[in-house]
Amino acid sequence: MYYTDKTTIFLDGKWMKATDASTDLYSQTLHYGSGVFEGIRSYATEDGAMVFKAKEHFERLLYSAEKMHIDLSYSVDELVTLTYELLERNNLQNAYIRPLVYLGQNMSLQPTEEVHVLLCAWNWERYLGDKQLNLMTSSFQRPNPKSCFVEAKVTGHYTNSILATTEAKSKGYDEALLLDMNGFVAEGPGANFFYEKDDKLFTAPLGNILAGITRQTIIELAQELGIEVEETFFTPEDVYQADGAFFTGTAAEVAGVESLDDRTFNLKWEDTLGAMLSTAYLNRVQKKEYKNFELV
Ligand code: PMP
Repeated sequence: MYYTDKTTIFLDGKWMKATDASTDLYSQTLHYGSGVFEGIRSYATEDGAMVFKAKEHFERLLYSAEKMHIDLSYSVDELVTLTYELLERNNLQNAYIRPLVYLGQNMSLQPTEEVHVLLCAWNWERYLGDKQLNLMTSSFQRPNPKSCFVEAKVTGHYTNSILATTEAKSKGYDEALLLDMNGFVAEGPGANFFYEKDDKLFTAPLGNILAGITRQTIIELAQELGIEVEETFFTPEDVYQADGAFFTGTAAEVAGVESLDDRTFNLKWEDTLGAMLSTAYLNRVQKKEYKNFELV
């Protein structure tokens, strides 16, 4: 599903077939989850493939590596250039790009000098699909920011996400909504969360969440459109009263939410600020907005 025998990847300075690549079973990342990664999308535009906010994604990758004491010997610009080459070599335009930085052999709990850099890409539908989602408040909390660097995208953090999504699906919901250690709504397992009340948007402040690049884009678009966004702490009970809600993430884009814990929101998705911002987001990533600005 992610690769075929024709797929080309970038691994440690070389271009090779995904099917020819191998890894070390004694990798510290495999045993302890000490790698860092990114999730990026490129879109077909009139000017060819455009990697959306490429710089921001690779700046976050470098930040994540630094926090995990991983010495990454690539600059943001080099990684951006390699990403465009990756797309070209695989003949991809609308694609999901996955940079992964993983470590060599080391069974100790100390930094590892051997660092591997993988860039791969594939076609990926919107991660949470196109239909509105029914969420449950997860019994799992997001990691305590004193237990890790929550703003770093570290492979091991995703065990928390896997537990939360698996719990939600096993109970018949589409996805989980996780609280922070103080009982306030934080984010989804792989996306940030906004809700709408009385023509205003609310989202969790930074501190207990991944600082999503899509979240930031939505805040910028909302400002441009004159929509007020408040970054504040709120509870599931506040969300029960919402007019609408949505997730944001590179893979999910803007994904509408229908209910939380079986409480359905007041407005139909089409009538929400989320639906309007979803259109604005898709226009921006495809550079269509100045031609096809269909926000009203
Ligand atoms: N929160 C978590 C836990 C995530 O994994 C993601 C996906 N990277 C996001 C939020 C959204 O971040 P972004 O918009 O940068 O993709």
